[in-house]
Amino acid sequence: MKKASAKIGLILAFICLIFTGLLKWHKSVLLDELAEFKRSALEVLRQPLEDGHITVARNKLSVDYPAHFMLVAAMNPCPCGHYGDLKHPCTCTPAQRHRYMSRISGPLLDRIDIQCHIEAVQYDDLRNKADGEPSAAIRERVLKARAIQTERFRGTNIHCNARMTPSMVRQYCQLTADAEQQLRMAMDLYGLSARAYDRILKVARTIADLDAVAHPDQPVTDTLTTPQLLQAIQFRQLDRADWGE
Ligand SMILES: [Zn+2]
Repeated sequence: MKKASAKIGLILAFICLIFTGLLKWHKSVLLDELAEFKRSALEVLRQPLEDGHITVARNKLSVDYPAHFMLVAAMNPCPCGHYGDLKHPCTCTPAQRHRYMSRISGPLLDRIDIQCHIEAVQYDDLRNKADGEPSAAIRERVLKARAIQTERFRGTNIHCNARMTPSMVRQYCQLTADAEQQLRMAMDLYGLSARAYDRILKVARTIADLDAVAHPDQPVTDTLTTPQLLQAIQFRQLDRADWGE
């Protein structure tokens, strides 16, 4: 029995090594159809998403593996896939939608910075011959925003807004009086958690950095405006109390 247990432990450690190795090298993971994964498997992601490492504990041995990565996930809004689609009414009951959404736990959703509902592509958009903004131009913008962040965190061991400590959030995510009021209202209205509060501010900081790239003539300040904050709140669609009802 002991031998079998040791073997399982070795296999587990080996899988973790491969997994964390992949995360370390590729730095991003895409999980399609998120709600189809076992809830217990998804819950394991909570630690690396929060702390950037995975702890494997077997018997008396405990090992930490680095696991900084970006999680990208996609899922349908409900079992039939049409919730929120005006042309194809959803055929699920509220209880079915609730059961489907509850496969993703609140604590896991809390750790996802940006959650947004993507509308079905309309016929006119499919036929539209005009090109969208090229990826190269978007990349350029992102690199400039990252350069602002590199400068902001120079001399520390972090490189981007997502990794800000609570004291850095207080320093670099100050709010105007109106933005403060809007955030207070959103927290009460949507029943957002303290972790969501932190992530809203970090995303708003990044939106402000992208705004600074678009307006290079204006200085980058530590204060976030109401439009930047409201846009960040819009990205918390799934953990609002009213989703799926
Ligand atoms: Zn449905």
